Amino acid sequence: MESDNFYEVLGVSETSSPEEITARFRKLSKLFHPDKNPESSVDYASIILAYKTLKNASSRASHDRALANERHRRAVLEENLAARAKFLSPERVEYRHSLSNMMRSGVERSEAEEDILVRVHPLEVKLGVTAPIEVPARSVCPKCGGGDLGCYRCEGAGFVKTVEKLPFRIPSYTKDGDTFDFDAQETPNVPAGLQFRPRHLRIRIRFL
Ligand SMILES: [Zn+2]
Repeated sequence: MESDNFYEVLGVSETSSPEEITARFRKLSKLFHPDKNPESSVDYASIILAYKTLKNASSRASHDRALANERHRRAVLEENLAARAKFLSPERVEYRHSLSNMMRSGVERSEAEEDILVRVHPLEVKLGVTAPIEVPARSVCPKCGGGDLGCYRCEGAGFVKTVEKLPFRIPSYTKDGDTFDFDAQETPNVPAGLQFRPRHLRIRIRFL
């Protein structure tokens, strides 16, 4: 019974009346008093400490304050973690091969392989996190609009190459080793006129 919450130790609600707390203590004593139950693994001393604290109005009030402080501290910590966890740093994203090579030569990978490995802590997944995925893309040349063979910007190709950073939101139900098929073209809010190559990528999530 490793708990700093004396209500949990006794198994009563935090709104219990003093009578309810005493009744509960008597019941636990019958079950766990060392004279009655020498084999019990329950720490009877912690039951007594919990009861002594809660039966006295003033020590109960300070215990309630300590619990409230602890809850507040935890809430702030989780909030900070959530704020920090929203976008993973690029170092957590590992490219298994050069994506531009993949585009050029059509690198073939087996069904089980992934293109991108994302390392993430389970808590980050739970709180909600997005991985930045860099995907090569082409867009129509901004200088000539694709219509000038003499264009210095695209050297007549009509398009320019870019690398776009796309957000991949890791679903909260993700388990270690899960893979997801990521369709770059279907990413929300992608600027018009971009063509991703490769377009389909397999992302594997690996827990830290
Ligand atoms: Zn051009």
